[in-house]
Amino acid sequence: MPPLPLITAQTEEKLLAFLTEHGHTKFRVQQVMDWVWRKRVTSFDAMTNLSPGLRTLLAENFRFHSPEIVEIHGSADTTRKFLTRMEDGSLVESVIIPAAAAEDGEQSDRITLCVSSQVGCAFGCKFCASGLLGLKRNLTTGEIIGQILSAETIAGKRVNNLVFMGMGEPLSNFDNLEDALEIITSHRGLEIGARHITISTSGFVPGLKKLAAYPRQIRLAVSLHGATDEVRDQIMPVNKKWPLSQLIPALEEWGRDRNQMPTLEYILIKDVNDSLKDASQLVRIAKKLHAKVNLIPYNTVEGLPWERPSEGRCRAFRDAVHKARIPVTMRYEKGHDINAACGQLRLRKEKENNEGSPGCRA
Ligand code: SF4
Repeated sequence: MPPLPLITAQTEEKLLAFLTEHGHTKFRVQQVMDWVWRKRVTSFDAMTNLSPGLRTLLAENFRFHSPEIVEIHGSADTTRKFLTRMEDGSLVESVIIPAAAAEDGEQSDRITLCVSSQVGCAFGCKFCASGLLGLKRNLTTGEIIGQILSAETIAGKRVNNLVFMGMGEPLSNFDNLEDALEIITSHRGLEIGARHITISTSGFVPGLKKLAAYPRQIRLAVSLHGATDEVRDQIMPVNKKWPLSQLIPALEEWGRDRNQMPTLEYILIKDVNDSLKDASQLVRIAKKLHAKVNLIPYNTVEGLPWERPSEGRCRAFRDAVHKARIPVTMRYEKGHDINAACGQLRLRKEKENNEGSPGCRA
């Protein structure tokens, strides 16, 4: 018998369909969602304003489950990375990123969570730890939502900003992502505004086309990392199937009826994509797409050959983009000391498990 579906994975629409099929009114959906998302109960018995019959019906068809938090790593810059174990034993990593202290000394209450969408990744970008073990499977809607609930338990606060930049290519798990987004953005659900959610893609064009048709104003970040097919082919195998000649029109289509700028993420890798010629090619694409650029000096990954360019070279690259009037930021990955780059914590843990390490050190 497969396990019952998670109540935390039910969109309002799905819950409504279930309850009306069993003779209940729309009002009951509101009550159930209120218990799950506002009052945060973890059992159907706690839903005291529902009839015993309805509570039994819910318990016979759904369940509550919280993923096991296996490790939590904090770092000097207060970024916290955690690893959760799914029910099939798969490990998933997520990162909590608090806003930096405001200039007046007041701490912002913004909490960003970097969410994973798959266990491992099939896309095999050459600089990324998540791709090293390949794709194990898609995360379910409940497992995507579960990362947010775990983060809120760890942080003791509500998460109010999400970036789908953890393990996996979110747009290749579109159906589960779409249901998760409905629950996340619903005013009866987690109620995080669409404009506080960023989906990051490596350039998976079929998924981008689906996202272009998705009505909510979710933000988009594209892991470009190379401004020519030659560079992207070298470090991102996805480009061989969907080269820039397909990716750029798909991004134009996404932006057509939106008042939103995509962000071009660009990891600066020494002697691969960090020349001034690369910068001018990046500028050309950014102008075409009315995009902003986020530069990320490469975070070394054990077992991979790439290196971070010098400070001076990173600055020269940024200045060249800035001079061309493209909005540009340079972001250093937070949490270098906790393996914060995508996929590294899970990779280490998997290695430990395979080598018979003592396991959890949380
Ligand atoms: S960068 Fe993203 S798409 Fe590429 S291998 Fe890593 S997780 Fe997958």
